[in-house]
Amino acid sequence: MGLVTEIKTPLIGSYQQPTGLFINNEWVEGAEKKTFEVINPATEEVICSVSQATEKDVDIAVVAARKAFEGVWQETTPAQRGQYLLKLADLVDQNLELLSAVESLDNGKSINMAKGDIGAVAGCLRYYGGWADKIVGKTIDVAPDMFHFTRREPIGVCGQIIPWNFPLLMLAWKISPALATGNTVIIKPAEQTPLSALVFANLIKEAGFPPGVLNIINGFGRVAGAAISAHMDIDKVAFTGSTVVGRQIMKAAASSNLKKVTLELGGKSPNIVFNDADIEQAISWVNFGIYYNHGQVCCAGTRIYVQEGIYDKFLEAFKKRAQENKVGDPFHDETFQGPQVSQTQFDRIMGYIETGKKEGATVEIGGERHGDKGYFIQPTIFSNVKPDMKIMQEEIFGPVCAISKFSTEEEAVRLGNDSSYGLAAAVHTTDLNTGIRVSKALKAGTVWVNCYNLIHHQAEFGGYKQSGIGRELGEMALLNYTENKTVAIRLGGAMF
Ligand code: NAD
Repeated sequence: MGLVTEIKTPLIGSYQQPTGLFINNEWVEGAEKKTFEVINPATEEVICSVSQATEKDVDIAVVAARKAFEGVWQETTPAQRGQYLLKLADLVDQNLELLSAVESLDNGKSINMAKGDIGAVAGCLRYYGGWADKIVGKTIDVAPDMFHFTRREPIGVCGQIIPWNFPLLMLAWKISPALATGNTVIIKPAEQTPLSALVFANLIKEAGFPPGVLNIINGFGRVAGAAISAHMDIDKVAFTGSTVVGRQIMKAAASSNLKKVTLELGGKSPNIVFNDADIEQAISWVNFGIYYNHGQVCCAGTRIYVQEGIYDKFLEAFKKRAQENKVGDPFHDETFQGPQVSQTQFDRIMGYIETGKKEGATVEIGGERHGDKGYFIQPTIFSNVKPDMKIMQEEIFGPVCAISKFSTEEEAVRLGNDSSYGLAAAVHTTDLNTGIRVSKALKAGTVWVNCYNLIHHQAEFGGYKQSGIGRELGEMALLNYTENKTVAIRLGGAMF
């Protein structure tokens, strides 16, 4: 197999798609020479095949990352690390059209959303590039004859495992704080969407990163992902994906070398609309909250609670609004919703829709496949839902939401918190006091007021309860990637 293939896409024509594993700044085949097919979710056709990493490749990548960590990367100044990230951000900007087209082709997201993602990738790299030379310790005055200070040191070799819903953006969220703080990385993209990370790998080399600092290996979760989480020479694992796999990763970390773990997992986020909300605005944000990225968002606003005074009016207008979302070819300029990422996800979501119907919920709109080719699903709204229904408790990860009524603020908070997840929530109201009170009462890592899904790399993101451990983005993400060392110096004199 060659390690590059020519692919044709709308928007950019044809381009050279790398297909190997990116280890030590080189393109290599997998040790076992295995490959897997990449499917276009809009057409169900094969785009190409890429190399599949197995346990041996993880070992090879770890050796490269370890060597870089102990050698060249330790000798690089923090300012220089920042420069590499800034240069990489510029290269991402320069390749925005290419990276967006690859993302749309492979993931199925609309081209305009893909462009938004790639812009955010550059923003994230740049933000952490700025942090690289601002990681500082402190001095602690404990006694006249002692001098204590702390150092923030990189953890070492980091394994990172990411999902398919924002392929390159999740990669940027993971690698940026890790590299800024002086770690080296082995990252495994999701097997459903391996392509954009490989195009990005060429930019890593172009930005001048030394070999071994950042290694990208595609492969399956139960093989390459499991090998990363159980590896004895990986010092930290960071994961975004399902709660089920998050638990497995934590177990593997615990029973191997007790590597540090951060997890960003699922959600079932409430979106609460009060009687006094600006209805037009609330409908737009509720619509965006659930249907953005085809509902394949960990913080998607899937449980919509509307106060009884406006419920009927809101539901009618929301149905109309959701039916206006253009579903179709990701490369059409007006498309809002493309296909789900894979046959598996399509089947899983359709299964939830059937369960909702069987459980007695009412389908207000949608509830069916869209078209007969590609993994498209109609925007779907369920009403007459009960808190214990499966569609109210489990993460569907598709364009499916449930709407219900509440009467008091207390009830809204109780319903909003009625979940084992706690990733995000939102409140829509024109009363500042209500907004502040309810945002304090909701158990979620992010609460939006009068908006939804507005995530910015300067602000922390992560979950309460079973939505995860640790925070990504913002200053706190730097803590995930540094060890604190306390140095205590005795300033002479006799012992005791
Ligand atoms: P997943 O958790 O299986 O996959 C996410 C990543 O983990 C992929 O890179 C995968 O290869 C890897 N992985 C899988 N099994 C692994 C293992 N045993 N050890 C190490 N790594 C492993 O998610 P999925 O099957 O692609 O999607 C299933 C559900 O997960 C979705 O329906 C959705 O509910 C949820 N999900 C959540 C997010 C999120 O952003 N929180 C993202 C994707 C999926």
